[in-house]
Amino acid sequence: MNQDLLSHLQLIYGAEMAAPAAERLDRMLADFQANAGALRPSTRPRVSHQDAILITYGDMVQTAGERPLASLAHFLENHLTGLVSTVHLLPFFPYSSDDGFSVIDYRAVYPDWGDWGDVAQIGGRFRLMFDLVVNHTSVQCDWFQAFLRGERPYANFYTTADPHADLSQVFRPRTHPLLTPFATETGTSHVWTTFSADQVDLNFANPDVLLAMLDVLLFYVAQGAEFIRLDAIAYIWKEMGTDCLHRPQAHEIVKLMRTVLNQVAPHVSLITETNVPHAENIAYFGNGRDEAQMVYNFPLPPLTLHAFHTGSAEILSQWADSLTLPSDEVTFFNFLASHDGIGVQPARGLLPDTAVTTMANRIKALGGLVNYKTNSDGSQSPYELNCTYLDALGDPDQPHETADLKAQRFLAAQAIMLALRGVPGIYFHSLFGAQNWPEGARQTGHNRTINRQKCQLNQLVDELADPASLRHQVFAGYAHLLRIRTTLAAFAPQGEQQVVFCHPAVFALWRISADGRERLLCLHNVANQPVRVEVAVPDASVLVNILAGAEKVAVADGRVQLPLPPYGVKWLQSN
Ligand code: BGC
Repeated sequence: MNQDLLSHLQLIYGAEMAAPAAERLDRMLADFQANAGALRPSTRPRVSHQDAILITYGDMVQTAGERPLASLAHFLENHLTGLVSTVHLLPFFPYSSDDGFSVIDYRAVYPDWGDWGDVAQIGGRFRLMFDLVVNHTSVQCDWFQAFLRGERPYANFYTTADPHADLSQVFRPRTHPLLTPFATETGTSHVWTTFSADQVDLNFANPDVLLAMLDVLLFYVAQGAEFIRLDAIAYIWKEMGTDCLHRPQAHEIVKLMRTVLNQVAPHVSLITETNVPHAENIAYFGNGRDEAQMVYNFPLPPLTLHAFHTGSAEILSQWADSLTLPSDEVTFFNFLASHDGIGVQPARGLLPDTAVTTMANRIKALGGLVNYKTNSDGSQSPYELNCTYLDALGDPDQPHETADLKAQRFLAAQAIMLALRGVPGIYFHSLFGAQNWPEGARQTGHNRTINRQKCQLNQLVDELADPASLRHQVFAGYAHLLRIRTTLAAFAPQGEQQVVFCHPAVFALWRISADGRERLLCLHNVANQPVRVEVAVPDASVLVNILAGAEKVAVADGRVQLPLPPYGVKWLQSN
């Protein structure tokens, strides 16, 4: 029996329950290895400067008479080859709500979108990232239906609670009631529903649930996933009298998954998605070698937004300067936008509460929306800002800004994300310069739809081909940044990062390759004003702006002095 697996299980369940679970897990892994012949063992580094991850829905681009996953595969091949290495396909399984995060069948592809062959087609060109929607299933999932009928082994698969118990301490990311009543064979059961009445929380205190989920994890590995996003992992362990968030057993389960993958699929990385304050978020790195290889860098979207709203990069710079990693085996998943809103929880403690309120009001003034959470005292506060990142950067006092200005400002924000140490995650709508879809939010009654418009393939391709369109300008600029980034070892996640405080409006940092041979000074002006900066540059007589052909900047007396236009970006190479 594998002792590491056993000791994780003991920490989660105690010795008595752990032993039989460990035996079953051992058998599961042996079966997996016996059948896993074709897995891709990789010789390349897990992630490098050549990696960028596109976040997309499986039905993001649509064309009449074609399965959306097939349309997506062609679109990605034609437009993104060489720009992104990896595709994060948001849940593409049969689902009943939450645009995929309410999974009915973990092992099937949503039939209207395509089949596993289409997923494999994308996997032929790009590395794949899948979600393991670990905390809950859909009410329509067979497991839950069997739970309602009281059938073994599902009768104890879901978390239930006494509706009279005091659950006020439980952390709530939403405003609906935590418990939802369901009629079962044995009477009414109050099931824990963290995210919605249609998303029923699994009961990980039952080892059968953990084993079932590990089986799904291995299935995804067998389907070619190299990155597994652990959706809402912070919520999986419930313990009365606590906030039921980040319990030690939740961390231990991530460690167990890591040990499983180390044993049977060491090329696969875990990435945790915990939309919580920074210190809690990075706890999922564990000691740097025993938990997730990547964590979502959640403060980055609100802090970057705040920098552009205020024209000051000071808070962003101070926070970036404080970032450390516990080992060279882990890194950040840097992102500015995703299918969800811009989470403001992670900015708590980094931005004053008044700044969060100001930001939320500004988003509303820009036509965006705000989703709320219920606090333990029953009050509500903003949870996320629902708006495309492009629109979120706007100025409500300047309703007639030009496409040039919008694109320039947006690309400056994206360049900050691309320059930071980590692996960039880019939402489809960011790459292609999408704006808000308020009509969609009205249609579905869900604020998040504002940032989830599906695209008609022909229309998108036409708009991209029109040099005057915002979409064209954003995509052309983004593609340029991404293409250049893949050539620069200084951007490797294993390299160094030193934040430079040279001007309040400028987010500046040195990136240095792991072997110390390549150095890049990255300058980003977050203000709509020209600025002049001066930075010390050791050991070089000239810097080259790699984003602008061969534009050279002379170093005099160990320093460079240079102007940056409004929202200007320069990545200056010194060899
Ligand atoms: C996903 C959301 C989803 C929630 C519940 C989040 O992490 O990103 O879209 O609503 O988990 O699954």
